[in-house]
Amino acid sequence: MRRRRLTKIVATLGPASSTPAVIRALYDAGVDVFRLNMSHGSQDEQRARFQAIRALESEIGRPIGVLVDLQGPKIRIGAFADGPIALATGDPFRLDLDKTPGDRTRVTLPHPEVFAGMEAGTDLLLDDGRMRLRVEEFGRDFAQTRVITGGPLSDRKGVNLPRVRLPIGPLTDKDRRDLQFGLDLGADWIALSFVQHPDDVAEARRLIAGRAALLSKIEKPSAIEWLNEIVEASDAVMIARGDLGVEIALEEVPSLQKRIVGVARRNGKPVVVATQMLESMIGAPAPTRAEASDVATAVYDGADALMLSAETAAGSYPVEAVAMMNRVITVVERDPRQRRMLDDDQADPERTSADAITAAARQVARTLHAAAIATYSVSGTTTLRAARERPEVPILGLTPSLAIARRLALAWGVHSVLTEDAHSFDDMIARACRVAVAEGFAEPGSRIVITAGMPVGTPGATNTLHAAWVDGGARRT
Ligand code: PGA
Ligand code: MN
Repeated sequence: MRRRRLTKIVATLGPASSTPAVIRALYDAGVDVFRLNMSHGSQDEQRARFQAIRALESEIGRPIGVLVDLQGPKIRIGAFADGPIALATGDPFRLDLDKTPGDRTRVTLPHPEVFAGMEAGTDLLLDDGRMRLRVEEFGRDFAQTRVITGGPLSDRKGVNLPRVRLPIGPLTDKDRRDLQFGLDLGADWIALSFVQHPDDVAEARRLIAGRAALLSKIEKPSAIEWLNEIVEASDAVMIARGDLGVEIALEEVPSLQKRIVGVARRNGKPVVVATQMLESMIGAPAPTRAEASDVATAVYDGADALMLSAETAAGSYPVEAVAMMNRVITVVERDPRQRRMLDDDQADPERTSADAITAAARQVARTLHAAAIATYSVSGTTTLRAARERPEVPILGLTPSLAIARRLALAWGVHSVLTEDAHSFDDMIARACRVAVAEGFAEPGSRIVITAGMPVGTPGATNTLHAAWVDGGARRT
């Protein structure tokens, strides 16, 4: 089965989407990569979801990406005894280290380092900044606050302290356990939260040791300062607008989104736009106009993938949310204006033979009205360079590695296919043509453009470009 769009969809699994039937429905509606969010749920629950995804993958015979998202040093409140509470402006509210479930007057904040870093007048932002509490009194194990902006508050909501610099490293003990868990499961992508510096990425990369690809979440002011270096050090990035919009003035987020997409695209690193894309669909079968527009904007920006969080993890309409995102993306990609915008932001090829061949492949595909560009790539590198070109036609990413095929599920325009190494030049052409037909990209009479490293069997840079006629078998042109 092939998708009719080039921008990818990432969906988070949670209580609303854990049965094999719902996971299947999400996939059918358009999910390319599933996200397991280690901030919520137990390892056992995440393992069950992972196994359901892999079972689905073998059933449908298409590689599916799995992204394990580490919580990072995110500060969260504890749970409430009797469900969500409501706080009104002016109410007193206490945060402390007491592990007793919370009520209308207090809740656990199990982070001694937060109380240590506090000052009177410090504002705590809760639930992605929806609520604001001002610290009036505090000690080593408590803070007595006044509600400045009230609202409903439920279990384990996040807490941000903008301006307060907390002495917390990029990987907590929980992250290290979850990282090991994710690698043991066989995750394709590991997402690193609250990255502040390229050293954070280097440390995670050392621990991952090549067993998965690494995605850095951009959600801290210091990650913006080090943006180029972090993008270079990572395999992909996410614009994590939830925390970013709290740590940085909200009005800065839209232009930052464009800047981060631009830096990632120039580097040929997949970039994911995340959080609140269809937020109102948590409780409604249709989104707001503004949300439909937000999804469209990220597609016009040229992002590789768009992400759903609570919409699919905990909402009442998970499948409808994916279907809506799929429809908006599909319509935007038919707009000639989107093509012009992608071209305007096109980065020049770098001085490598892979980039030269890849840029030429795009040109040839356009001139010949080819149905697809097929890339042979063992590591996936050349396929990502092809995605960087944002060509007019889909990219068939042919690879002998299942792990790479799954990783490439995140990349713009790539339909990855697991295939044996070709035995000869002719075999390579014939194989690409067969795959293009079998996967629904071409029919007899179509042309496809193929890039590969030659001679066959020698690993190395892509140096070959071939335009082929599809005739069921293969014909040399
Ligand atoms: P989170 O990351 O959902 O793990 O917080 C995304 C974001 O901050 O936008
Ligand atoms: Mn976040």
